[in-house]
Formats: sequence, structure tokens, C-alpha cells
Amino acid sequence: MSNYWSQIIRELKPYVPGEQPKENLFVKLNTNENPYPPSPRVIEAIVKAADSSLRRYPDPNCEVLKQAIADHYSIKKDNVFVGNGSDEVLALSFISFFKQSQPILFPEISYSFYEVYCSIFEIQNIRVPLTADMGIFLEDYTQPNGGIIFPNPNAPTGKLLSLDPIESLLERNNESVVIVDEAYIDFGGESAIQLIGEYANLLVAQTFSKSRSLAGLRVGAALGSEKLIEGLERAKNSFNSYPLDRLAIAGAVEAIRDKAYFRATCKKVIKTRERTVAALSKMGFSIVPSMANFIFIRPAGIQARELYTRLKDEKILVRYFDKPPIDEYLRVTIGTDADMQTFIEKIKKIIA
Ligand code: PMP
Repeated sequence: MSNYWSQIIRELKPYVPGEQPKENLFVKLNTNENPYPPSPRVIEAIVKAADSSLRRYPDPNCEVLKQAIADHYSIKKDNVFVGNGSDEVLALSFISFFKQSQPILFPEISYSFYEVYCSIFEIQNIRVPLTADMGIFLEDYTQPNGGIIFPNPNAPTGKLLSLDPIESLLERNNESVVIVDEAYIDFGGESAIQLIGEYANLLVAQTFSKSRSLAGLRVGAALGSEKLIEGLERAKNSFNSYPLDRLAIAGAVEAIRDKAYFRATCKKVIKTRERTVAALSKMGFSIVPSMANFIFIRPAGIQARELYTRLKDEKILVRYFDKPPIDEYLRVTIGTDADMQTFIEKIKKIIA
């Protein structure tokens, strides 16, 4: 604490990301990174971009990247916004759309950064409880609001909503912006991007960190009506003109263009997820049905906290949230088949 800090910074509780250990000694299943490297075309493009042109600023509007994303989703470039990771895209969305006279709504158990954005931007919020089986029930989001946001699939549960309830929500809630945070949509869900033409208040956030193996490059996007994108551009141009550097733009363009590589890695992760779920179910663990690249599990025969610690001793890192009611669960990122085999074997050893 320092007297130099503003009141708002004094009162903030910043987001705490999962550990990133310095040494490479761990099987790292704690931050939902992709176990596979980015497409070789991404690396090639970044190496090629690392030349004397770095002395110049990048394109402030990231036109080439926006066009590549627009082509991929068959939408227009004016429907695309890009930023330094979806965290930045979400932060700019909160300030652009959610600072209203009514509180915003989001799930009680969800991505904890939402609360942090609310505190830094002084946005009132109501956290809507999940259902008994850890689902998001969008009919519970029927009340006056300054905006609605939820991840789909939800984090940290992995549970997916189909597009029907999302579309019904958009039909009845047309006076505030609805953000669907699709950080994990490529691991088995159906994207709401196909609805942006119909609903001018729908914003879909996506990231290159998970399904495109680029957490280290920091690239995120938002897709929505031209007016929403224009609002985001206004916020961005009042904050940082160049959120994406030349290397990030070059790499992200190839990541989106290499569809075959993207499909193949997503498929592998999904297959490994299903294998891991089967193995853990056999051991009596309860597992929330997941359509993400992680699973939310309640261990059998051992407390979640203890299993987290014992796994760490065995050089396996998973995510433990020390707050009820999710303190009985562990969130486990899906690694390679070999990673998950080690994970299962270590659990068997610990429990025995
Ligand atoms: N949304 C959700 C639900 C997430 O879990 C994450 C990853 N922590 C993000 C957004 C942000 O991802 P990034 O900033 O790497 O794009």
C-alpha cells in the first residue's frame, strides 16, 4: 500500500493468473494452454517479420489480420476488432458498453477477471447463481441490466450452452450489450458469431491463446455489429493506438489461415479430453461435462486441496480455487496423451 496510489488502485483486488514456473520441470495443466505448438506457418511468418521494419510502428488498425479473421468467419472486416489478448478486448468492452446506470449480470462462478474489470471501471454488477448441476440458465438473466457477459463454454466448469437459449436471451434482451466470451468454443461448441448479423447488441469475444496455441503472442478478437466495433475502436484509440505489434499481427494471420493445422490440434485435444474423462470416471471422480480444453473435477477419496498439493509435489500443476463452493474441485487443462497418462498414474499412486 502506498499513499501515492489512487483510491481505486488501493481498493482493487487484481486478477491472479495461474503459476508460470521458471523451470520446465512441471507437467503444466494449470492455465489452459494448448499442449501442441503453434502452426509451423506461424513461426515462419514471425521470423520473416523480424526484420528492419520493426523500427516502424505496426498498422494501428491491423487491417490484414482483421481481413483474415473476417474471411475465416465469412463476415466483414468492419465486424472485427482485435486486441492484445482477449483480456484486453474484454477490458475495452467493459468500458465501452457496460458502464451504464444499471448493474451488469454475469454468472456467480465464472471467469474471475469480470469482477476485476468491474472494480477498476466502477461498474455495478449482479452475479447470477449457477444451477445445481453447474449450468448457466439464461432465463435467470431476465431483469433490467446494463449488460450481460458469460463465457461459453463457461470457465472454470467447461459446461457449454447451445445457441438456442443464447438466441432467446438476445431476443428478449435488446437494450444492453450481450457478450459471449468464446475463449474455449473451438473444443466442441458452436459459435454465436453466426448471430451477429441479426443482433446488433451481440459481441463475441475470441482468443488465439487456446485453440491456436498462441497464449504467448497475446492476440484476441471481438466480433459484432459495425456499431459495436466502432465503439471498441473509440475506446482502443483513447488508450493504446498499437496494441498488436508487427510480430503478433504476422503470426496471428497465419494462425487463422492454417485451418487444417487448427482443426487437427483441436481434434487431438478433444480426443484426449474424452480419454481422460473416461479414466477419471472409472476412479469415481465426478466430472462436469466439458466442451473446453480443460475439465472441472471433484476428486473421490481425497480433498481437492490435498490432491492439488500432492500433485504439485509430483511436478504436476493443476488449478485450485481456494473459495467455496468451487474449493472442492480442481480445474485440469488437457495436455498431450502422455501428460494425461502421467497425471492419471500419479493420482492413482497418491490415492493408493
Ligand atoms: N476469457 C476466458 C473465459 C478465459 O479463461 C481467458 C484465459 N484466461 C481469457 C478470456 C483471456 O485469454 P487471453 O487474454 O489469453 O486471450
